[in-house]
Amino acid sequence: MADREICGHLEKIYDVEVSPDLISCVTNAVLDEVRSFAGGFNVNGDCNSCGICRNVCPARNIMIGDGPPMFKHQCESCLACIHHYSKRAINYMAKTQSCGRYSHLDIGHTEISRIYKG
Ligand code: SF4
Repeated sequence: MADREICGHLEKIYDVEVSPDLISCVTNAVLDEVRSFAGGFNVNGDCNSCGICRNVCPARNIMIGDGPPMFKHQCESCLACIHHYSKRAINYMAKTQSCGRYSHLDIGHTEISRIYKG
């Protein structure tokens, strides 16, 4: 999302004007941290390569070939891949194995996949 789009959302939601330069300062400050996030995913033996994680990823960051999912380096840290597969096959480092999985009651991975396919 471009800085000007973020400004537009902030104005629409919170009725405040924020300069694109301020947004740029904030996003640049956290960019390295967000990029390094992508290296922390792991996939356990419960993965059956169903493709749910790939289909719910808004950044098209997940590839599935013959084996388990592979993560590229354009993750947006949304955690949809972790939350939408009920068997807990995808985790982040050693931090999410025992954490709950959450998704919207009315909007599951099927609906999200349909939206992203267009
Ligand atoms: S956290 Fe979100 S953006 Fe990152 S790989 Fe998973 S679904 Fe894609």
